[in-house]
Amino acid sequence: MRLANLAGRAVLVTDAGAIDVEAASDGRFGPDPQSLFDDWAAFAEWSKAVTDASAAASVPFDAARLDAPVPRPRQVFAIGLNYAEHAAEAGYPPDSMPVTFTKFPSSIVGQGALVALPEGHVDWEVELVVVIGREAHQVSRETAWDHVAGLTIGQDLSERITQLQGSAPQFSLGKSFPGFGPTGPWLVTPDEFADRDDLAIACSLSGEVMQSSRTSMMLYDVPELLVRLSAVCPLLPGDIIFSGTPSGIGNRRTPQRFIGPDDVLVSEIEGIGMLTTRFTAGG
Ligand code: ZN
Repeated sequence: MRLANLAGRAVLVTDAGAIDVEAASDGRFGPDPQSLFDDWAAFAEWSKAVTDASAAASVPFDAARLDAPVPRPRQVFAIGLNYAEHAAEAGYPPDSMPVTFTKFPSSIVGQGALVALPEGHVDWEVELVVVIGREAHQVSRETAWDHVAGLTIGQDLSERITQLQGSAPQFSLGKSFPGFGPTGPWLVTPDEFADRDDLAIACSLSGEVMQSSRTSMMLYDVPELLVRLSAVCPLLPGDIIFSGTPSGIGNRRTPQRFIGPDDVLVSEIEGIGMLTTRFTAGG
């Protein structure tokens, strides 16, 4: 199942277009995309019948109207240094715990966002984003995936001067300017992937490939992240986890490169699609 947020309304995405969730369910689910996570199991079950039986009810939609598939997560987890090559380029040894911070929820935006660049050095980080569908507290590796509603694409946009200033890094602040959490274009349920643990992940800036890897290269894979995070705090339905970025960020290139006002950032993950973000000066 592919689930999108079309101008604030939950829709199922089919090859033919979109099916409005509230209309198709006679008001049982939706229209608020965030509300679906309150009873994800029932919604997921209902959606199976709908996509098979009534794909004909799909209507074409304008991709420019897509918004964040998970618009108001209560908790946003983000993981640093989760690919060995990126940990090396960032100058940190791999750690015995996933490096964890947050992107404050006000930074979350969707497909086609226009992000006003703050002063400083704004960098890209394509990431697989995990969406929680069932509360996860102290879960095991074996059952971890059962708590996942789906996967989407994220960009952990980062202003490096704010992030790295002072005596301890300010990861959460430096990565939470308005628009710094593009996600989308939609959520894809785990059953849709041939191998949910091994997906090609890449991003390009104005046509130049900057990052290219596979999610199987993560030091802490999706089940392990759920084990480690949920050992400390419950992961709630509708929470999201930015799972870390592969190597190729601008801050560690020679010469360094950062996002400029006319750049277009295209992020891609196998089996999900493409997420495009544009930029403008000021902010
Ligand atoms: Zn990141």
